[in-house]
Amino acid sequence: MNVNRYARQVLFSSIQEKGQEMLAGSTVLVVGAGALGTVICNHLVRSGIGKIRLIDRDYVELSNLQRQMLFDEEDVRQALPKSVAAKQKLEKINSSITIEAIVGNATYENIKELTDGVDVVMDGTDNFSTRYLLNDICYKKGIPFSYGGVVSSRGMTAFFIPKETPCLRCIVKEGADHGQTCDTVGVISPAVDVVSSLQVTETMKYLTGNQQYLRYTLLTFDVWFNQQYDMKFKQPNPQCPACQREEFPALQAKAADQETILCGRNTVQIHEKTAIDLQQWESRLTKVATVQRTPFLLKAVVDSIDFVLFPDGRVLVQGTEDPIVARTMYDRYIGS
Ligand SMILES: [Zn+2]
Repeated sequence: MNVNRYARQVLFSSIQEKGQEMLAGSTVLVVGAGALGTVICNHLVRSGIGKIRLIDRDYVELSNLQRQMLFDEEDVRQALPKSVAAKQKLEKINSSITIEAIVGNATYENIKELTDGVDVVMDGTDNFSTRYLLNDICYKKGIPFSYGGVVSSRGMTAFFIPKETPCLRCIVKEGADHGQTCDTVGVISPAVDVVSSLQVTETMKYLTGNQQYLRYTLLTFDVWFNQQYDMKFKQPNPQCPACQREEFPALQAKAADQETILCGRNTVQIHEKTAIDLQQWESRLTKVATVQRTPFLLKAVVDSIDFVLFPDGRVLVQGTEDPIVARTMYDRYIGS
């Protein structure tokens, strides 16, 4: 281990060489490589974490650069998937870290495998259905879950530990954001940084054997209108279907919604194919659309709609948030 690189961190009395070695031996799953996820990975990689598994379903666009700290204009030009662009940047920052980049969705079908060998799961998502999925797998497998959410100038974060603390379902109800999303009320990047930095801080405490310093609260704040509130964890909800009744509803197979509206993106994702051959679809769509193929995706522009096809079978329909419009366009140009 190159101690010089981490000299300032090793000097910190709660970490020292022992803590540094514990970090180097740790694996973290980061779900989402957007605003929160990029800041989280940046800190983790600089701190000398052993391994990061990073999953994201989206690709880099110009409007991301305002707050997604690992990306630049070249990533936008190349339309790189976010997890791939993030990995490239992170490896330049610290080449000794193992980074596994996955382009895709975290779902009830793959979440068990995604969390294998993981010491902490970190939330870089923008929606409660994925957060509840992460919460449920963490409580099922006994993995700590570092939750964070941000919208406008407000942030919210907590570090949940199975069998020690209540879970996300006990503390934060779905819809706690009152339907406000980055799409409707925007977001400023300092608020993102604060939330994700706090997520990483708690994770570092946990991974370096400093559990006695964990905050054990749900912290909410507004960096613009100057409010802050620390709510001590209460008792778990005795009816909680995750941490108490151990039913883990998000892990149950269900007729999963094939259409998902992506936050802040004027985009609907349709996932009903199991795979897409980009080359084949390029030649098919060239006749009706303006197409651009990269090693990771195929973009096709028809009328005012952009289709983005991924090899894992997902199609983003951009230019609408109406699932019916998206489905109509999908059926017309992609079909089953
Ligand atoms: Zn619970």
